[in-house]
Amino acid sequence: DTETLIDKLHRERALSGEEWVRVIDGRTPETAEYLFGLARQVRQAVYGKDVYIRGLIEFTNYCRNDCYYCGIRKSNSHVQRYRLSQDQILDCCRQGYELGFRTFVLQGGEDGWFTDERMVCLIRSIKAGFPDCALTLSIGERGHDSYRAFFDAGADRYLLRHETSSSDHYAKLHPPSLSAAHRKACLLDLKSIGYQVGAGFMVGSPFQETRHLAQDMLFLKELGPHMVGIGPFIPHRDTPFAGEEAGSLELTLYMLGLLRLMLPDVLLPATTALGSIRDGGRELGILAGANVVMPNLSPRDHRKDYSLYDNKLNTGAESAEGLADLSRRVEQTGCRIAVCRGDWRPCPDQE
Ligand code: SAM
Repeated sequence: DTETLIDKLHRERALSGEEWVRVIDGRTPETAEYLFGLARQVRQAVYGKDVYIRGLIEFTNYCRNDCYYCGIRKSNSHVQRYRLSQDQILDCCRQGYELGFRTFVLQGGEDGWFTDERMVCLIRSIKAGFPDCALTLSIGERGHDSYRAFFDAGADRYLLRHETSSSDHYAKLHPPSLSAAHRKACLLDLKSIGYQVGAGFMVGSPFQETRHLAQDMLFLKELGPHMVGIGPFIPHRDTPFAGEEAGSLELTLYMLGLLRLMLPDVLLPATTALGSIRDGGRELGILAGANVVMPNLSPRDHRKDYSLYDNKLNTGAESAEGLADLSRRVEQTGCRIAVCRGDWRPCPDQE
């Protein structure tokens, strides 16, 4: 039954809610291998052997939010807070550019110091300094006018994981000031402005059931994002979820494979969290259908302060050796790192 559903997903790129539950709960090591084989074929047809790299710059760990799972939540007083200056951020880009990065991702907490004016100035200076590069923002929820201003200043893409598409589940992971509905409204807004948009969720977050994952797949199908970021939930010692169990590598890989079949042309990162729960986790992600990796370009002395969860992988690719190592790892999967912006491209049969 599971293989039949995988075949149906491969053919039709969609399943019903009840079928999603069955295909997830019915997985075995054998059906997972079957799925990954198809996912690699589908990826190959759209993107060939190319794996895209994104230079991640974690530019502020100040955050006004208090998400129960996140290590940089406002209430965590153990965090050494920092924000990078514009010059420091441009230095990160310069270093990354020399290594072959053509996409930079500015990620941070929701930090009020970075007003729209400051963000616009930062975006303009990055785009002026690196005109052949794409710029991705991942700075949480803002209003329409802010998103518009960042886009007009040159930002190309925006990552905003929906975290979980179920309102009830969302309310168990976040304080009442945040809602699934608002998060989703932001994603629609970003899409309508013209960004390449990334949504996504944690696998194995506290209280998650298979039906929530099924709902996530239905939501993503409807949204039609250009990118989807998923990774296992990993507890952080200074959060309310310190004692919760981590999400599994195995289920995360399986979800990656399913995503590749549902959205053949999606840009799908093998995330840092995947590499953090198991050495070689990101390579397994690529073998399951992922085609993006996001090495860290942040200054070394701040890495430990951007600790979203315990034991976060913090070797970057800021050095030539770091990138050579990553390159070797990617080649072991039969793929290769591409030096280009790595924009989304539509599936050949949908052009
Ligand atoms: N503040 C921005 C936002 O809300 O989108 C971007 C930064 S936020 C820290 C980036 C992502 O980290 C979140 O979307 C969440 O999925 C992930 N994350 C946070 N805590 C995590 C944890 N304990 N385990 C796994 N992923 C986590």
